Amino acid sequence: MYDVIVVGAGPIGSFIASRLAELGYRVIALEQKECVGENVCCTGIISVECFSTFNLEAAIFRKANSAKFFAPCGQFIRLERENPQAYIIDRASLDKSLKQRAQRHGANYLFSASVVAVTPETDCVSATVDYHGKQRTFTAQAIILACGCGSRLPEKIGLGEITNFAFGAQAEVNTIDLDEVELYFDQNLFPGFFGWLVPTTPDKGLAGLLAPKNPAPYLRDFLYHLRAQGKIASTEDEMKFGTIPLGTLPRTYGDRIIAVGDAAGQVKSTTGGGICYGLLCADIAAECLHQAFLTNDFSAARLSSYDKQWRAKLNRELQSGYRARWFYKRLGNRHIDKLISVAKDSGIPQLVAEWPDFSFDWHGPLISEIVKHLAIASSLQPVKALSKHND
Ligand SMILES: Cc1cc2nc3c(=O)[nH]c(=O)nc-3n(C[C@H](O)[C@H](O)[C@H](O)COP(=O)(O)OP(=O)(O)OC[C@H]3O[C@@H](n4cnc5c(N)ncnc54)[C@H](O)[C@@H]3O)c2cc1C
Repeated sequence: MYDVIVVGAGPIGSFIASRLAELGYRVIALEQKECVGENVCCTGIISVECFSTFNLEAAIFRKANSAKFFAPCGQFIRLERENPQAYIIDRASLDKSLKQRAQRHGANYLFSASVVAVTPETDCVSATVDYHGKQRTFTAQAIILACGCGSRLPEKIGLGEITNFAFGAQAEVNTIDLDEVELYFDQNLFPGFFGWLVPTTPDKGLAGLLAPKNPAPYLRDFLYHLRAQGKIASTEDEMKFGTIPLGTLPRTYGDRIIAVGDAAGQVKSTTGGGICYGLLCADIAAECLHQAFLTNDFSAARLSSYDKQWRAKLNRELQSGYRARWFYKRLGNRHIDKLISVAKDSGIPQLVAEWPDFSFDWHGPLISEIVKHLAIASSLQPVKALSKHND
């Protein structure tokens, strides 16, 4: 019998396991993979602020304070801040260090343990696990679903499902003269989404994209595009795939149950980055669960305060990102070319460089400001419409 079972040993699962173990609870993390950090698909960009707030440790490849945004026609705008805004890290090393931290606080881990069912009962909750082909049952006072995007567990338990996704693909590439993050916008290469080329170690980088469906052919085309532009040396690289939720779980709590991280849809609605918001929400979840232990009340009614608190923190930002992406989807390549050209000529680089409330993690206010700025400077109807919507 444990106090808490955590399903999934990704960054969010290990983080919450660590917080709860530190508070003195008996925690076990059940992970279906054989080890942590195995085969993760992530670019590893995390804000400096998030890194220090959560005291993260990871192998840092680079610091980033600038990025180039490319229009379909090849023209680009370069945005820069004086100080580093983000770290580009080795994601597997982050997952490992969070697991080690949790273990130092006393959390247990079981790998190759796939949770196939979760059953809340009157005085406990049980998890049925497929462990090397045999069924085992674990019981605890509460269970945390940190099982990432695409797991059917939340739906099986009655928390509903996330119905909107982006499909990500990424490959490690040999880069040529790449020393800052590059983002690509082109409705033919990445319909409704975007692509990236991110430097990591010398002459290496990650080329990736989000797509509305099977991303492999999109990534193949993007790699050819990058090769043709002389940005990467080869196109024969191993691809990794991942799914990003573009909506939130209807309910992130139940009797003795809490869902966090990608499983709950707690990701930035602009970029799909999920580590920062997942950690923020895991912090809230740990505190709510602590209160549940203090009052010995693990009912859905009590745990609903977690749902209320995280939505209060993220909702405005999520909605503004969903709206921005909804409008972006409707732009044609000629619109994007024009927008980037207008942005360049109308002082957006200066606005970004000097914006006092700039945040790598909270994009809403800056999006509103940029849209207003562009609406004045451009005659593009979609931008004017978005500007009205944001008012
Ligand atoms: C291409 C791409 C690039 C990205 N780049 C960034 C980035 O630069 N910055 C950023 O912040 N975010 C990025 N993200 C998003 C980021 O990877 C996720 O937000 C993050 O991994 C979420 O962590 P998590 O712990 O919630 O879920 P996950 O990392 O998905 O971990 C869930 C874990 O649960 C395990 N699991 C699932 N089901 C079960 C089960 N039934 N039983 C036991 N174990 C189970 C899984 O094996 C997995 O280990 C990217 C995503 C993609 C696809």
